[in-house]
Amino acid sequence: MAAKIGILPIGQVDSAILLMLKEKLVQIFPDTTCVIVDAPLPLPEKAFDKQRGQYRSDVILGKIQAYAAKRKGLRSVLGVVDADIFVPELNFVFGEAACPGKAAVISLWRLKPEFYGDSGDAKLFAVRALKEAVHELGHTLGLKHCQRSSCVMHFSNSIFDTDRKQSLFCDECYLQATLRINNLG
Ligand SMILES: [Zn+2]
Ligand SMILES: [Zn+2]
Repeated sequence: MAAKIGILPIGQVDSAILLMLKEKLVQIFPDTTCVIVDAPLPLPEKAFDKQRGQYRSDVILGKIQAYAAKRKGLRSVLGVVDADIFVPELNFVFGEAACPGKAAVISLWRLKPEFYGDSGDAKLFAVRALKEAVHELGHTLGLKHCQRSSCVMHFSNSIFDTDRKQSLFCDECYLQATLRINNLG
């Protein structure tokens, strides 16, 4: 039986990125289907830290978790936000996920080339978003960080790590993902 992934926009999110994710995620995760859920959530105001000017990723993830708990038909829910997110121990995060669990979040904010003073590049932006989405959804299946720097499950400390890795799983992580999607792992 196929596992269904839900993409949940939180606040204003570029619909081209959501459509790209919907199309590409099913090519990377075996035996899955994907939907963009029709009722986006607002960015939770209580997640905003005025001092830092950033949103707390754990608070947003909690909202996604609550949503995912109500949507029994979805194996995993990927929240997508276009705002800068952080956890208290770190300056920022590209994303966060329950590992294993049903909820994940990615932020598009620091994936835009413009954030680093580079000129806009829609293709590069899209491929970065895909890598972070696959990575966080991999965590929801229980996949841990992978030592191989080219594997999508490699930890990204900076955008350089993200650019170095592929949007694909290494053979070992792919096998793990397949087993977990089919509840065999
Ligand atoms: Zn990770
Ligand atoms: Zn791997």
